[in-house]
Amino acid sequence: MTTLIYQNFIHGAFVANKSKETFPVINPATDEVMYHVEVADEYIQRQAIGSAQQGFAQWSAMTPVERSRILNKAVYLLRERNDELAKIEVLDTGKPIQEADCVDIQTGADVIEYFAGLAPTQMGAQQPVGDDFFYTRKEPLGICAGIGAWNYPLQIACWKSGPALAAGNALIFKPSEETPLGAIKLAEIFIEAGMPAGVFNVVQGAANVGQWLTTHPEIEKVSFTGEVGTGKKVMQSAASNLKEVTMELGGKSPLIVFDDADITEAVSAAMLGNFYTQGEICTNCTRVYVHKDIYQAFLTELKTRTEQNIIAGDPLDPKVNLGALISKQHQKLVLDYIEQGKNEGAKLLTGGHALTPESAPNGYFVAPTIFVDCTDDMTIVKEEIFGPVMSVLVFEDEDEVIARANDTELGLGAGVFSLNIQRAHRVIHQLKAGICWINSYGNSPAEMPVGGYQQSGIGRENGVETLNSYTQTKSVYVGMSKIESPF
Ligand code: NAD
Repeated sequence: MTTLIYQNFIHGAFVANKSKETFPVINPATDEVMYHVEVADEYIQRQAIGSAQQGFAQWSAMTPVERSRILNKAVYLLRERNDELAKIEVLDTGKPIQEADCVDIQTGADVIEYFAGLAPTQMGAQQPVGDDFFYTRKEPLGICAGIGAWNYPLQIACWKSGPALAAGNALIFKPSEETPLGAIKLAEIFIEAGMPAGVFNVVQGAANVGQWLTTHPEIEKVSFTGEVGTGKKVMQSAASNLKEVTMELGGKSPLIVFDDADITEAVSAAMLGNFYTQGEICTNCTRVYVHKDIYQAFLTELKTRTEQNIIAGDPLDPKVNLGALISKQHQKLVLDYIEQGKNEGAKLLTGGHALTPESAPNGYFVAPTIFVDCTDDMTIVKEEIFGPVMSVLVFEDEDEVIARANDTELGLGAGVFSLNIQRAHRVIHQLKAGICWINSYGNSPAEMPVGGYQQSGIGRENGVETLNSYTQTKSVYVGMSKIESPF
């Protein structure tokens, strides 16, 4: 049997590395190696930069409308290939096809489409100063780097390339070494859509390839998605030549359910925000605070629906709604957190163990797990687990729950369920989080800026402000009157 090997995608084509170093990519639902990928060695790294310089020169000289047209063609191709791309995401990540089919590629395409539409609207300003005047130009930064996590590989590549390319930059993207294929497919689609070679290159590898991107002097900005600890390292390296940074990091987000909430809706939100993508979502509401008067009713419905409606198994089966975790190592990490929860006194409402579904017996599954009787100081309540593990906590009073929800160094998402509109807004305004939902959880349309407060991040993705973050302002002062000089 021949081994399938993917090379780095540079200047519109696959390019072989010199070191011959490769890494394997494993299907999390089967524990089998699917293919290998060549590491971006020094030769590839040099090629990537040289190519991006050429790509940037050509791309930034095009008009925004021309760039927009090409990006929109890519959007069309992404949607046309939805099924093929969704399957790639399922095989790489272990997530259910019923999600990838309608979320991953579509929300990626939506963001590129949104920024393609915004690109031609970017304008500078003009202002008179006496008889003289100045004007400003929004210019691209140059070569940017994107570094992605493994939970939404293609979507992350789209969310970073959409604004970066719409603003006229070139982007060198490094997907997670666990999920490298989606970004390659996006690169092929961009070329097919008519994008000049070198505008979007894909380099492959782990931390050391990421480190190279964060220290290379030709790279002007790094947009990073990953863990808080890695984000800190990236920012430190990026300081070497004062690169701009966007940091999309982890979270431990609260969901607050008041006594006047629609309980069924709140249970839906808690389940979506803990078990969708088998719990591997950065904004997940892993701390669910429920008012004492509805606590029992909430738990009864939560337990019933979790035990009856969640189907784990082969993620390619459209009926399955709980997939495999990304790796055996990550499965162990999640199971270790569960053990720690038990040891620290939390009580299991359901789950709390690995799963071996008949249709995917070798996959890295963890049962949807709900801890009750949790207290704020427990490790499972404090640390991001990034698996299907929910902690439910009781509260009595509004001020108390706000203080408890804010007792964290993170600040990515937050949710409030209440039918009292004044209370819902009042509470959400006091929560330290960048992405908030009222009577909803998890929706993230292209138009809405997303990003973290505190240690959950810096900068935003999506929304108008993100396009600006990929530009720099040049001010041009124009003298109309004679220069007054003492010399
Ligand atoms: P990770 O930090 O381990 O890795 C992320 C990426 O960084 C990978 O491509 C990795 O190869 C690279 N990398 C590792 N070390 C590096 C270094 N020293 N320099 C440069 N690059 C380096 O994160 P992960 O395990 O892939 O993803 C899970 C994390 O991502 C979770 O914490 C999750 O909350 C977070 N996340 C955040 C968002 C968001 O938008 N806020 C979205 C998705 C995931």
